[in-house]
Amino acid sequence: MDYTKSFEDHVAAIKSEGRYRVFTDIRRQRGQYPTADHVRGTSIQAITVWCSNDYLGQSQNPFVLDAMHTAIDAVGAGSGGTRNISGTTHYHVELEHELADLHHKDAALLFTSAFVANDTTLATLQSILPGLVIFSDEKNHASMIAGIRHGGGSKQIWRHNDLADLERRLAATPKSTPKLIAFESVYSMDGAIAPIAQICDLAERFGAMTYIDEVHAVGLYGPRGGGIAERDGVMSRIDIINGTLAKGFGVMGGYIAASSAICDAIRSTAPGFIFTTSLAPAVAAGALASVRYLKVSQKERLMHQERVVAVKMKLTAAGLPVLANPGHIVPLIVGHPVHCKDVSDALLSRYSLYVQPINYPTVARGTERLRITPTPQHTDRDIDALVQSLSALWNECNVNQGIIRQAAE
Ligand SMILES: *Cc1c(COP(=O)(O)O)cnc(C)c1O
Repeated sequence: MDYTKSFEDHVAAIKSEGRYRVFTDIRRQRGQYPTADHVRGTSIQAITVWCSNDYLGQSQNPFVLDAMHTAIDAVGAGSGGTRNISGTTHYHVELEHELADLHHKDAALLFTSAFVANDTTLATLQSILPGLVIFSDEKNHASMIAGIRHGGGSKQIWRHNDLADLERRLAATPKSTPKLIAFESVYSMDGAIAPIAQICDLAERFGAMTYIDEVHAVGLYGPRGGGIAERDGVMSRIDIINGTLAKGFGVMGGYIAASSAICDAIRSTAPGFIFTTSLAPAVAAGALASVRYLKVSQKERLMHQERVVAVKMKLTAAGLPVLANPGHIVPLIVGHPVHCKDVSDALLSRYSLYVQPINYPTVARGTERLRITPTPQHTDRDIDALVQSLSALWNECNVNQGIIRQAAE
């Protein structure tokens, strides 16, 4: 068996589809977001980042940085253990209290990332509730899909944000069967927002639990940054809220917030919670400072929304194919993996603008896109430069006349 050839063939197939991933090597500059250095061997190119999930620039917030420096100076680098064996530091305890309070739940549990939180929680719920059927939105993130698969139980995939399809499937499942509806609030690649209240209505009618991934909403929406469920006044109707500390909050880590009964059961059972070293104390301290800060400060959220509207308006006015949505993500559909990467490469090399191409399997084939994420730190000049560069490239490639799409067919 030629193992090496198997790996090389695998990569060759990915390359032939035009979806081979090349990571852009950047070095961010403290306090200078969204500016960064693009490192190419020995040369350095100053670029503007337009595709970060650091939506509010919290990775640069001085309160967050101070908390992290202070924690390192106070207690050192790593936590030194799993949560059960010496790794529950006071920073972790405080952060869990803060997150429970953010979502008005009894308790919260920290994980290394929101991916791990989704994966291990959804798998574990299936072992705690035998016979559980999970009703999963078809556009759910890979981490939820992984958790649902790992649990090995039954699932029903309902059409994206389609309440009638969800209702039909719930109605067709026996009343006595335990049920869980799993969905996101803001879908990360389209910017679509779920009808949370109506999903909760269905959950109540059919006796289902609810599990929401608010990864792209915590910090960004709601009067205290509690997410779309907080904004819509429906947080108390959701059983389990999943969030990240890495995107809006700008640090790292993931969590769930839920009742004490649920958290106690997950804490006592989930392998992804038990058998791994807890977050570094400085990471927990930074996340804690970030959550506390965004609970009271509105200006980042207001400015973020204002910038999103400005980017969408200017791109649309320039005739560029913005996928309309009510959220803060600005997808520009290209529809072909090779062209998507070409446009992205040209943006970077010719205009010093960094927008990573998004290809399959992150999005469906034929819907390849540039996913633009405005932040409060992007200036009017940044926006104008982005729109002018994209317009020039689009005209050059005749993308707007559908030539790229035809090439794909
Ligand atoms: C990024 C993402 C996650 C994972 O969050 P991390 O904290 O980065 O692991 C989970 N769900 C969705 C929808 C995401 O986009």
